[in-house]
Amino acid sequence: MSDKNHTCPHCGKDLAAWNVPEMACWGTRIQYVCFNDECSYFTKGWEWMRDKYEVKASYRYRLDPETGEEGPLPVWSADALKSGIIENQEKK
Ligand SMILES: [Zn+2]
Repeated sequence: MSDKNHTCPHCGKDLAAWNVPEMACWGTRIQYVCFNDECSYFTKGWEWMRDKYEVKASYRYRLDPETGEEGPLPVWSADALKSGIIENQEKK
């Protein structure tokens, strides 16, 4: 993967660099995640999880910058995991 800006294929917003918790099994420390609360991937996830598993949860779009692998990042609320977002140093 290059260091170009990564955008979410579902909503077109820039992905946020996100610190992987130590409990996660990914080998990489940083994942790129769409933290847009309006993202269709995220908003549709609530219905999907309720219908399939009868749980109140959803997931966000995740991209592994090292492997290019993408997949869902499970969340249990709109604010879950946001504490792991790495602030973009270039923005003020
Ligand atoms: Zn998105």
